Amino acid sequence: MLAMTFRGPYRVRIDHKPEPQIEHPDDVVLRVTRAAICGSDLHLYHGLIPDTRVGATFGHEFVGVVEEVGSNVQNVKAGDHVLVPFNISCGACYFCSRQLYADCLNTNPNSTLASGVYGYSHTTGGYDGGQAEYVRVPFADVCCIKIPSTMAEDDAVLLTDVFPTGYQAAEMGGIAAGDTVAVFGAGPIGLMAAKSAWLLGAGRVIVIDHLDYRLEFARQFAQCETANFLEVDDIVKHLREMTARIGPDVCIDAVGVEADGRFLQTLLGVKMKLIAGATTALNWAIDAVRKAGTVSIIGVYGPPFNLVPIGDVMNKGLTLRSSQASVKRYIPRLIEHIQNGLVDPKAIITHHVPLEEIAGAYHMFSSKLDGCIKTIVIPPKSSTWH
Ligand code: NAD
Ligand code: ZN
Repeated sequence: MLAMTFRGPYRVRIDHKPEPQIEHPDDVVLRVTRAAICGSDLHLYHGLIPDTRVGATFGHEFVGVVEEVGSNVQNVKAGDHVLVPFNISCGACYFCSRQLYADCLNTNPNSTLASGVYGYSHTTGGYDGGQAEYVRVPFADVCCIKIPSTMAEDDAVLLTDVFPTGYQAAEMGGIAAGDTVAVFGAGPIGLMAAKSAWLLGAGRVIVIDHLDYRLEFARQFAQCETANFLEVDDIVKHLREMTARIGPDVCIDAVGVEADGRFLQTLLGVKMKLIAGATTALNWAIDAVRKAGTVSIIGVYGPPFNLVPIGDVMNKGLTLRSSQASVKRYIPRLIEHIQNGLVDPKAIITHHVPLEEIAGAYHMFSSKLDGCIKTIVIPPKSSTWH
């Protein structure tokens, strides 16, 4: 089959690989009909995630048609159209039984930090991802969710990560009615967090980035205010001035480990990899949020020390919340929001690209070219139904 493969930082290509097989009675093999490229994939692409092996196939956001079914699988059958949350979860451990699917105990033999994730290095289990013609889905009864027949595939693929993740980011903010919510990052996750902040009762939403095309899109998609951190002297002061010197009630970090905005941190952490990335957005969030406010961290960070100002957190009395999103927990609620017309996730998709052209798509997304917000990859044999 055709599959995207990692060759080294900034180098991915299409290769021929053996098709995945049923390895356990709980597995299914899926014929992928759509996959997406995520901001999280860029951390792999840039070489920031340890143990990302040559030949690995990325892709943790995909939907498809069940092709082959393991002998234990009961909830799905060959031919079903399903979406698959990016967390691989067993459904039965201490964490899964509390709907903390991102924390599953049984799917990541390489680390106790997080569950397995498709196509996300050996630190999350070494599973191949869905930027390919076929993908193996373990614990299929738990991980495959049937796509409602009226739902567009483009919406379904954004339910595997982006929409639930943005929603959880807003939920972790503990937004009270009328709160001012500042969202750092106007990528897909920030856009969905902004949209979700309104659903959860925000009175004001401000999105921060330095890419004007994304800020313009945010204003239109999420009806929010925006701030370009390159156009103000000091973004933290600017946010205080916008909020009567108090600061936003909730700040969401939807940027993560590759933040821009502080030259030295980006140079040392992102370009030279001497410290573990750049925490500029998180630092701004902690600095800007009002005393006794909440910072919700959905942007991805690695475990090593990242220069986080814990003294500010302590003295300001902040609540810090963070997680890999537990996608499955949100699916029923978010399907309803889509069906009721409250949110149109597919509106953030700017590009549909054939799988064969995925190398160019990574370059475009990484360099933020051509107005790119979200790219969907389509394998050659995917006869889609919407
Ligand atoms: P993206 O690369 O499309 O968007 C990131 C945006 O942040 C860009 O528009 C960039 O210009 C902006 N940015 C850079 N530095 C900034 C700063 N200092 N302040 C404000 N904005 C800044 O990525 P995405 O797909 O939206 O993902 C965003 C983050 O969320 C990534 O770190 C990704 O790994 C993470 N993520 C986390 C989860 C989870 O479960 N926790 C799931 C998916 C994605
Ligand atoms: Zn993702």
